[in-house]
Amino acid sequence: MEKTMKAVVTYAPGDNRYEDFPFPELEDGEVLLKVKGCGICAGDLKAFHGGIRVWGTSEADRYMEPPCIPGHEFYGEVVDIKGEVPGIAIGDDVCAEQVVPCGHCHFCRTGKYWMCQRSAVFGFKKYANGGFAEYVKLPKTSLKHVLPKSFTKEQSVLVEPIACGMHALEQANIQHDDVVVIAGLGAIGTSMCNIANLKMPKLVIGLEVREERARRAREYGADIVLNPVECNVVEEIMKLTDGLGCDVYVEASGSPKSAVQGLNCLRNHGRYVQMGVLSDLVTADWNTIGDGKELTIIGSHLSAKVYPAVIRGIEKGLIRTDGLISHCFKLQDWAKAYETAEKDPTAVKIMLEP
Ligand SMILES: [Zn+2]
Ligand SMILES: [Zn+2]
Repeated sequence: MEKTMKAVVTYAPGDNRYEDFPFPELEDGEVLLKVKGCGICAGDLKAFHGGIRVWGTSEADRYMEPPCIPGHEFYGEVVDIKGEVPGIAIGDDVCAEQVVPCGHCHFCRTGKYWMCQRSAVFGFKKYANGGFAEYVKLPKTSLKHVLPKSFTKEQSVLVEPIACGMHALEQANIQHDDVVVIAGLGAIGTSMCNIANLKMPKLVIGLEVREERARRAREYGADIVLNPVECNVVEEIMKLTDGLGCDVYVEASGSPKSAVQGLNCLRNHGRYVQMGVLSDLVTADWNTIGDGKELTIIGSHLSAKVYPAVIRGIEKGLIRTDGLISHCFKLQDWAKAYETAEKDPTAVKIMLEP
């Protein structure tokens, strides 16, 4: 009989099943992890609900390759290695970067693996099944990082989302005289308040509607948190900056309204960073960028060469993780976990464990 493992398997939008799945077989250079935990990303929820960026408009432009196992925020213990994999040993706790680079496209060859033309992320492709499973196979080209033995499961699972936030801040190139606005204070936005604060700018301003998240972000390093429902954010930011506007606006909420707000509250020569995945098209006065303020518009995709820094930062206690994992569910209760992530007002980051 074929050896199997338990996994959550995606077949179609709205069709995830907890079932037996063929046990991963290793090829040369591959590593097998016994999964210890895996965070649920907003992208996993969007995929479940048939998000167009994942499912496309037809088979031709479909990113998702079902049936496959979702989950890219995983870590686990190395239980098998095939061939030579330098730096990785049986028994290590390891996480892999979310992107699985092809290794030979223009971007991979020039060291920009996170922009790999193939753009494969764990959990969306048959050849890169994710961590909502008992075991996950790390392909040869995947980027593996050994986690310190001292890491809790929460810390281990948060490395991926924190890395995405850290990359966005690196894209923003924060200076000590900058007023930095971070819009959307979920787990990543909250962590960005922490990391932005470590760069010692003039002011870190968070934008968030939920009071609980606002409170946590203040603990994490936001000097001020504004609620876009209760105040006019652009006016408040102008007041706080002598009418100039902020230097940096990091959009991490995924709301088109927040994107427009960003253009409006930036000062002349401000830097706009798009980090969140937007839920809809944005309608904005594009002149604000050119004829108006001479803005710099910057994209942020996944994370680039920051995992080691995130791991060091957590290890040194500079990067905080407390309170960012709000719930932990067993793998078979994935549906309840998804529902909690979407509906529970106390939810921040939710993780699954086998
Ligand atoms: Zn993620
Ligand atoms: Zn590539």
